[in-house]
Amino acid sequence: MYELEPHLAAGARGAMVVPDEFIIDPWSTPLAFAKEAIANGVTWLPNHSVTKLDRSNDITVISTAEQHTLRARCVVNAAGLHSDDVHALFGLTGFTVRPRRGELIVFDKLARSLLSHTILPVPTSHTKGVLVAPTVFGNVMLGPTADDIDDKTATGSTRAGIDALLAKGQRILPALLHEEVTAVYAGLRAATQHSDYQISHDPTLGYVCLGGIRSTGLTAAMALAEEALTLLQRCGLVATPKAPDELRSIRVTNLGEAFERPYQRGSSGAIVCHCERTTSDEIVEACTAAPAATTLDGIRRRTRALSGRCQGFYCSAEVCALAANASGKPMSDWLGNQ
Ligand SMILES: Cc1cc2nc3c(=O)[nH]c(=O)nc-3n(C[C@H](O)[C@H](O)[C@H](O)COP(=O)(O)OP(=O)(O)OC[C@H]3O[C@@H](n4cnc5c(N)ncnc54)[C@H](O)[C@@H]3O)c2cc1C
Repeated sequence: MYELEPHLAAGARGAMVVPDEFIIDPWSTPLAFAKEAIANGVTWLPNHSVTKLDRSNDITVISTAEQHTLRARCVVNAAGLHSDDVHALFGLTGFTVRPRRGELIVFDKLARSLLSHTILPVPTSHTKGVLVAPTVFGNVMLGPTADDIDDKTATGSTRAGIDALLAKGQRILPALLHEEVTAVYAGLRAATQHSDYQISHDPTLGYVCLGGIRSTGLTAAMALAEEALTLLQRCGLVATPKAPDELRSIRVTNLGEAFERPYQRGSSGAIVCHCERTTSDEIVEACTAAPAATTLDGIRRRTRALSGRCQGFYCSAEVCALAANASGKPMSDWLGNQ
C-alpha cells in the first residue's frame, strides 16, 4: 500500500485496489450527449422552466415560465433537484428531493505528484466518504462532503464543510494540506427519502420519471437512457431508434491532460487562459457551436478557461472580448454574467 502511495498518512491498516475505477471529465460528457442529440435532430430549448403539465387526448401540453407552450405525446422528467416538483405537476407523489450538499476543494496542479490513485476511505451507509483523487484536468481533489439540507439553491461553500474536508484530508494524505488551493466548490445531489433512484412510468400519462438521480448519475447516464427508451416504448412510443452507425457522430474538444489538447497542436489560435492553456479558437467554438455557451461559466465548462490558479483574474477580459465578438452580444452581457 505504501509502495503504491508513499504519501499516504501513517497508520493505514490495509487497502483494496479497484482496477476498474476511473476518473472522467464531468463537463465534456453531458456536453457530448447534448451535441449528439442536436446533431441528430433534437430541438434544444435552453432556459425553459416547466411550470405546468396538462394531459388530454393522449397529448401533454407543457407550459413554461417563459410563456412557451409545447405539445408532447411523451414526457421524460429528468429534472434533477426539481424532479419531485415536476412529478407533482402531474399530481404524482412518492418521493421528495432533499438536497445532499457536497463540498470539495481543488488543489493546485503542483500537488498532482502526491498521488497516483483515487484514494477512498471505507464507505458508510450514507456516503462513499471523502476521497482524495486526481482530476482529469491535472489537479487533486479532496471531497465531497455529504450534508442533507433543505435549500435547493444553497450551493455556497461553508466554513464547517471546508474544516471537515481538511480534517479528513489530514487523515488520508497530510502533505496535501501544505499545497495551494485553486478553488472550492459545492454541488447538490438530488437525494430522496429512498436509497435508490426514482424511476417509474405511467402509460396513461405518457410519462417517464428519472427522478432522484443522486450520486453516480453521471456514471449511470447511458444505462438510464436505455432504461428510459424501454419505458417510453411501454408508454406507446413507436419510433424505432436509429442504430449507432446511422447517427451523425460528433466530437468534443479534449479537455483532459491524458490526451493532446488544442494548444499542443499549435494551430488553434493564441493561448488566452495561461493557467489552463485554453486557446482563442476554443473560446470562439464554445460560443458558436451548438449548444453554445451563453455565460462565462458555460465557457469555463467547455474550455477550462477561468478555472485555473488565477480564477480568471488574468484572462477574463480577453475571454469576454472574444465571446462578445463571436456571439454578437455586447461585452457587458458577458462581464456581468457568471
Ligand atoms: C458533489 C457531487 C459529487 C458527485 N460525484 C459523482 C460521481 O463521482 N460519479 C457520478 O456518476 N456522479 C456523481 N455525482 C452525481 C451526478 O452529478 C448527478 O447524479 C447527475 O448530475 C444527475 O443528473 P440529472 O440529469 O438527473 O440531473 P441534473 O444534472 O441536475 O439535471 C437536471 C436538469 O433539469 C433542469 N430542470 C430542473 N427543473 C426544471 C424544470 N421545472 N423545467 C425544466 N428544466 C428543469 C435543471 O436546470 C438541470 O439542467 C455527484 C454530484 C455531486 C453534487
